[in-house]
Amino acid sequence: MALLNRLPTRDRFQIMGITTNGTCVNCRNSNETRDHLFSLCPLAVDLWRAILHLNGMNFTVLPWDDMVYRACLKWKGKSLITTILKIAWNAYVYSLWQERNRRIFQGRSRSTDNLLKEIIEVVSIRLRGKSINKLDSTNFFLCNAWGII
Ligand SMILES: [Zn+2]
Repeated sequence: MALLNRLPTRDRFQIMGITTNGTCVNCRNSNETRDHLFSLCPLAVDLWRAILHLNGMNFTVLPWDDMVYRACLKWKGKSLITTILKIAWNAYVYSLWQERNRRIFQGRSRSTDNLLKEIIEVVSIRLRGKSINKLDSTNFFLCNAWGII
């Protein structure tokens, strides 16, 4: 839904005349659009930066379309890092959307650290018990960083 830009974000409700408040609840500083929510919002920026940091990767703020383009271009093959990036990406998008809904509908919020912990748990559970060559130093580093047993 995020890829197709079909999520019911506040900018779309505004266009339909359903609401006049289009502010992002994750930062209260910009209009809530798909691109803002998942790539430019400070919460998204902090979370994706932390995920890439766990992989030992550098981070640059990119617009949503560039993030998706880069992922399609680079995340190929079956290496551990590619697998982690794909799982973490899904968990990242899901947790940002869930956080947005939690703040709107329940008036509760979680910190970036808590969201990151949840994403780490998703990655480690999905990869637990998989056959991973830990003699490879990159894999060894990634298993430690993500708590993959
Ligand atoms: Zn925001």
